Amino acid sequence: MTGSGSWHAEQAWLGRRAENVVIEVVDGRIVDIVEGKPAPLHAVRLRGWTVPGLANAHSHAFQRLLRGEVESGGGDFWRWRERMYGYSHSDPADYFTHARRVFREMLESGITAVGEFHYLHSHGNALGQALIDAAREEGIRLTLIDACYLRGGLDGRPLDEHQRAFSDGDADAWARRGDELRDGDGVRIAAAIHSVRAVDPESMRVVAAYARERRAPLHIHLAEQPAEVEQCMAVERCTPVELLEREGILGPDLTAVHAIHLNALDISLLGANHAGVCACPTTERDLGDRVAPLLELAAAGCRLSAGSDSNAMIDPLEEARGIELDQRRATGRRVLHQPEDLMAAVTVNGMSALGWEAGELKVGALADFVTFATPELERRDLDAGHLVYALTGRDVTNVVVGGKTVVVK
Ligand SMILES: [Zn+2]
Repeated sequence: MTGSGSWHAEQAWLGRRAENVVIEVVDGRIVDIVEGKPAPLHAVRLRGWTVPGLANAHSHAFQRLLRGEVESGGGDFWRWRERMYGYSHSDPADYFTHARRVFREMLESGITAVGEFHYLHSHGNALGQALIDAAREEGIRLTLIDACYLRGGLDGRPLDEHQRAFSDGDADAWARRGDELRDGDGVRIAAAIHSVRAVDPESMRVVAAYARERRAPLHIHLAEQPAEVEQCMAVERCTPVELLEREGILGPDLTAVHAIHLNALDISLLGANHAGVCACPTTERDLGDRVAPLLELAAAGCRLSAGSDSNAMIDPLEEARGIELDQRRATGRRVLHQPEDLMAAVTVNGMSALGWEAGELKVGALADFVTFATPELERRDLDAGHLVYALTGRDVTNVVVGGKTVVVK
């Protein structure tokens, strides 16, 4: 994942629109960007709109298997979860093949880095390693966010038969297994507390300390459903966000995924700690989740990112506009977020949540960039509003990850 070369973009997004941009890459990083230049003879020409590589900050590759399969019979999130568990058992060879297909689909939609929130531990690290191998094979950047999962609920109930395969027994055993995984070219190991449901407070502190000692990103599923908040109030006498504050988990290195059922104090705590919030609009719609107070979170100081989560669909631009469009229905108002902010969510903010210096076309950044081209774009100036609302992942024609071309259409 460390290629070198020169590219010439007809139009490119450098935080603003630029024309005739030459991007020079050495060993996977951008070393020079000059605009207003004709294409050098040796440069690869990129027609259309070239933007920074898109980040998918929250994914469970295995849940791609559920797409279109659990859409009859009724129920709620918890019923979906029971059915989802039925798809959580794979052998490593099958998982490698499956993950390759999922990662290819992501690359073709413009995603250059994915965060796999990984808790399938029935084969120790073999399924995590399958994700690493699949990412390397396809050329996508991977942050393997290995999740600690220890209990069946806040009341300390035991793990059910499926959940037992997620658990290491205790947080120290989780950390020891994590130590066997290694960062490498295009791969970062990060840590997750699965949720306040699945990890007791003492073990949460172990996971957070583990991530912080290694300067690795720390993620958590947070307040996706009201039942989690109710159980937390009953057992811990506080909200999940207050619990994280009490245990010293909140911080700028934390990404809270979903963050839907929050009160005003929760929002101010997340904002004051500059925590990241990862919204997963297409999955949240699919699961009947409510709409997160994303405008309030952003205003409070949270960096928004987005993820394809269950992979019911894979299109980072649909996630970007979903951040905004779902809130329009919830609030009866339009244009709560500016298109540039939605773009930042699926580029630089998502990359930062995954621990990558990418998501911006600038000198020193990792050389990830994506080109969109349609006949209509040939007559248009690149602008964030049109990019986010008028294009889809299917309009991607070229993808470069770390200076290597991984998609050409
Ligand atoms: Zn998730």
